[in-house]
Amino acid sequence: MTFTHWENRSVVVTGGTRGIGLGIAELFARQGAAVLLTGRDGEAAREVAEGLARETGGRVAGMGVDLRSPEAIEGMAAEAVRRHGAVDVLCANAGIFPEKPLREMTADDVDEVLDVNLRGSILAVRACLPAMERAGRGRIVLTSSITGPTTGYAGWSHYGASKAGQVGFLRGAALELAPHGITVNAVLPGNVRTEGLVGLGEEYLSGMRASIPLGRLGETADIAHAVLFLASDEAAFITGQTLTVDGGQTLPECLDAMAPPLA
Ligand code: NAP
Repeated sequence: MTFTHWENRSVVVTGGTRGIGLGIAELFARQGAAVLLTGRDGEAAREVAEGLARETGGRVAGMGVDLRSPEAIEGMAAEAVRRHGAVDVLCANAGIFPEKPLREMTADDVDEVLDVNLRGSILAVRACLPAMERAGRGRIVLTSSITGPTTGYAGWSHYGASKAGQVGFLRGAALELAPHGITVNAVLPGNVRTEGLVGLGEEYLSGMRASIPLGRLGETADIAHAVLFLASDEAAFITGQTLTVDGGQTLPECLDAMAPPLA
C-alpha cells in the first residue's frame, strides 16, 4: 500500500480565505501540498495565504477570484499551473448562504446564490479540466451541504436548490471525467462553526447544537479531513459520491429519537 505524496500535488481551494475553505487549505498545506487559495479580494487572499504559509511552513499562494466571473475562474486555473505546474486537486468550496423567505425572494436573490454556489462550482471544474486531462488524473471535491441534497430549511430554499444542484452536477461530471482518471465527489457538511455560520446568531447555533447527536457543532477540520481523503490516491475508486459530515444530524426522525445527553 502506498500513500499519497502530497508534496508533489497542486491544490486549488475556492473560498479559502476563511471558514471551511481555510480549514481545507491549512490541512493540505500541512501535508506538504502546494496550495492556491482564493477569495473575492486579491489583497485579502494573499494576506491569508502568507499567514498560512508562515504558520504551516507550507507553500501557499492567494488570489482574488470572484466566482461570478468566468474570466476570473479561468485565470485561477492558469495561475495554479503557472505557480505550481499542475492542478491535481480542485476543492470547489466557496459559497454563500443568505437567508431569504420565498415570498420576498427576487430574481436577483436567486441569481446571486445560484451564480456563486452552482455556476461558480461548475465553471471552476471546467477551468481546471485541461490541466487534469493533460496529467491523466485529478480529484475534484465540491463542498455541498446537507441542506438541499438531504434536508430542507425554511428561508434557505434557493440555497438548498444550489447545493442539491451541485450533487446533480457531480453525478454527470463523474461519468464524463472517469475515462480521464478524474474523480468528482462532494462533502455534505452539517453545521460547522465558521464565521459565516456564527453570523446567523446564538439562537440558531444553540438550536443546531441540540439537534446534533454527537453534541457539538462541526469544526472546519472535520470537513477538511473528509475532503483530504476524497482527494487522496487512496480514494481512487470513489467517484460520483457524497460524504455526509454532520455529527449524525440527519439521522434522527425527531428530537425524541435521540438519546438524552449524558448527565
Ligand atoms: P464562510 O465562512 O462565509 O466563507 C465563505 C468563503 O467563500 C469565503 O472564503 C469567501 O471569500 C468565499 N466567497 C464568498 N462569495 C464569493 C464569491 N462571489 N466569489 C468567490 N469567493 C466567494 O462560509 P463557510 O461556512 O466556510 O462555507 C463554505 C462552504 O461550505 C460553502 O459552500 C457553504 O455553502 C458550505 N457549507 C457550510 C456549512 C456551515 O455550517 N458553515 C454547512 C454546509 C455547507 P471572501 O469573503 O474572501 O470573498
